Amino acid sequence: MKSGHGGARPAVLVVEDEPRMRFLLAENLEFEDYAVTTTETAEDALMEIERRSFSVMILDLMLPRMSGLELCREVRARGLHVPIIMLTARSAEADRVIGLDVGADDYVTKPFSVRELLARVRAQLRRDGGQAGGREEVVFGDVRVNVRNRLVTRRGHRVELSTREFELLRYLLAHRGEVVSREQLLRDVWGYSQVVVTRTVDNFVAKLRLHLEPKPHDPRYLVTVHGSGYQLVV
Ligand code: CA
Repeated sequence: MKSGHGGARPAVLVVEDEPRMRFLLAENLEFEDYAVTTTETAEDALMEIERRSFSVMILDLMLPRMSGLELCREVRARGLHVPIIMLTARSAEADRVIGLDVGADDYVTKPFSVRELLARVRAQLRRDGGQAGGREEVVFGDVRVNVRNRLVTRRGHRVELSTREFELLRYLLAHRGEVVSREQLLRDVWGYSQVVVTRTVDNFVAKLRLHLEPKPHDPRYLVTVHGSGYQLVV
């Protein structure tokens, strides 16, 4: 195994229904020292991203039932900014992927070389992370957040945040020191398309505190500003 990432490995989600292609992608990504999760369907992929955060998603366009395009749209509709690379069979489709408001970041056209795809994955990992105040890595207490690779570790061990928990943390990091209201968090982290109530924000803040705070019930970093909202003090 190569170990070019240092510490915890970036997680990649591969959504591909064709077994040989899925195996090929998983094997090559694992060889490059990514933590790989694969699903055969878009529906399973949606369940995975609710469970944890991925550094990059690779979506095949043609999937049974819900297509890769629909999945991509759904991920964006949920307000999730994880980099998405689409696998398309024809370049005509590629135009749609990028041209329409689907929200993919990049695409490769089948047949593609694995080396090419790996280069695209690396490019996405380099690119993402500009939203946390330009800093790639933020350390507070025993927590280390690699914004670019969407990795959170605590005392060297990976913290398994869901995709939404990570988005919330990333947003708070980008606005560190500022008091952000629940309404602002709902608008910017959940997006208007989501039917959620401000109580949801409180629940996710509580979850983040469990993951990151030395004493979650007496928070030191992610504090409540009464009557206003929350403030990340790091
Ligand atoms: Ca397919």
